[in-house]
Amino acid sequence: MNTAAPTEFEFQFLEEGFSARDIVEQKINESSMTDDRDAFYVCDLGDVRKKHLRWVRALPRVTPFYAVKCNDSQAVVTTLASLGTGFDCASKTEIQLVQSLGVDPSRIIYANPCKQVSQIKYASAHGVQMMTFDSEVELMKVARCHDNAKLVLRIATDDSKAVCRLSVKFGAPLKACRGLLERAKELGLDVIGVSFHVGSGCTDANSYTQAIADACCVFHMGDELGFNMNLLDIGGGFPGVDDAELKFEEITAVVNPALDKYFPADSGVKIIAEPGRFYVASAYTLVVNIIAKKVIMDEESASDEEDEGTTDRTLMYYVNDGVYGSFNCILYDHAHCLPTLHKKPKPDETMYPCSIWGPTCDGLDRIVEQCNLPDLQVGDWLVFENMGAYTVAASSTFNGFQRPDIHYVMSRPSWQQVQQICSQGMPAPVEESCLFEVSACCGQESNLEMSTKPCQARVV
Ligand SMILES: *Cc1c(COP(=O)(O)O)cnc(C)c1O
Repeated sequence: MNTAAPTEFEFQFLEEGFSARDIVEQKINESSMTDDRDAFYVCDLGDVRKKHLRWVRALPRVTPFYAVKCNDSQAVVTTLASLGTGFDCASKTEIQLVQSLGVDPSRIIYANPCKQVSQIKYASAHGVQMMTFDSEVELMKVARCHDNAKLVLRIATDDSKAVCRLSVKFGAPLKACRGLLERAKELGLDVIGVSFHVGSGCTDANSYTQAIADACCVFHMGDELGFNMNLLDIGGGFPGVDDAELKFEEITAVVNPALDKYFPADSGVKIIAEPGRFYVASAYTLVVNIIAKKVIMDEESASDEEDEGTTDRTLMYYVNDGVYGSFNCILYDHAHCLPTLHKKPKPDETMYPCSIWGPTCDGLDRIVEQCNLPDLQVGDWLVFENMGAYTVAASSTFNGFQRPDIHYVMSRPSWQQVQQICSQGMPAPVEESCLFEVSACCGQESNLEMSTKPCQARVV
C-alpha cells in the first residue's frame, strides 16, 4: 500500500483484490498491537464515486448538488467536485470550503432560506447567485445586499412521513407563494425557480410527486408575473443505504415520471437536487473498541444454578465513541445504529442481551439500548457500518473525547475513473456513464455489481 496526495487530501490506494473491509481488518490488527485502540473510521471514496454513477443512471435529468452539511470532509467534497456535482451550501464557511477547491460559483446553490445579512453579502462578493428564500423579510434582505441574486422559492411539503421533518422550519405554504412572487417583482428581484425538501429520511415516495406538482403550480404563478422560471430543485431525502425503508430506486421510479409529466424535457427547465446522505452514508465504517464492561446478574436465574442454556445476565459494554461524538446521529438524525462483530461468533456461541454506551460521563450517552451480542472482553472491537451521514459533521469533543481518525481509501480503477470524469466533464447522458462503467471493468475493478447488462450491450 502506498499513499497518494493528488490534491488536498490523502488517501491510500487499495491494492488489487483488497476492499475497504480489508483495511478495517488491517487497522484493527495494527491497533491491537498497541495500547491505544482508539476508535477510527475507514472511508471508501470509491463508494462515493459508485453512488454518483448510480445517481446519473437513475436520475439522468437531475443534476446533484451535494448537501455539504451532511459530511463536509475535504476528501468527500473534493471527490464530488472532481465528479462534477454541484453543491448545496448553507453558510459562508461551506461556500468557502467548496470555492477553495476551485468549484465555479455557478455550481453552488446557497440553499438556506434564512441567511445572515453579512453572509448574503459574502455570497454576492464571491459570485454565488442562486439562493433560496421562503419569506418576505428574506426578499428585502437580498434586495439590499445582493446585486444579482437568482432566487429560488422554497415551498413547504408534506413531510409527515419523513424521519427528520424540515417543513416545520422552512418552506412557504402554497397559498403564500403568489404574494411572495409579487413582492419579489416589486423589489426588482429575479426569481428563477422553486425548491423543496420532502424531509430527510423520507419514507413515502408520493411526497415527491405532490411536491413536484405543487412546484409546477408555482412555476405558472411565476410565469404569469413575468419571471423566467427555469430551475426546479427537488431537494434531498434520498436514502444512503440499501436496506432503507424506502429504496432509492423506489423513489426514482416515482420521481422520473412526475418530472416528465410536470416538467417535460422540452420545457427547458433545468432540474437539480440536493442529496446529502445518499452520497456518503455507506462510504464510512466506524470501528470502536470496548473500554469497559459490566455484568448484571439476573436475580431469578442466578439463584437457579441448574438453569443451563438460557442467559442469566445482561451485559453493558462501554466503547470509545458515543452520542457526543460520531453517534450524535442517534440524537439529531434519529438513527438506529447496530454493530457487527469483528470476530465471527462460533455457531453455538451464547448470546446475551446487551446495551452499548459511549465513553462520556453523561447518562444520555447510550448507543444501543438492547441488542444481542456474545460475551466480549475489554479490548475487543465492534464495527458500525453506514456511518458517513450526519456523524463526523456534527460531532463534538465533549468531555475530552477526541474524534476518531479517518482513513480514506480508494481503488486504483476508481481513482482513474474519477480523473477521467473530471477531465471529460459531467457524465450526464446514460450512454456515457455506461462507457465509464465498461472502462472500469477493463480496469479490473473488483466490484462489478454496477455494470448492468443492457448498458454493456449498448456500448458494444
Ligand atoms: C439537509 C438538507 C439536504 C440534504 O438532505 P438529505 O436527506 O441528507 O439528502 C438538502 N437540502 C437542504 C436544504 C437541506 O437542509
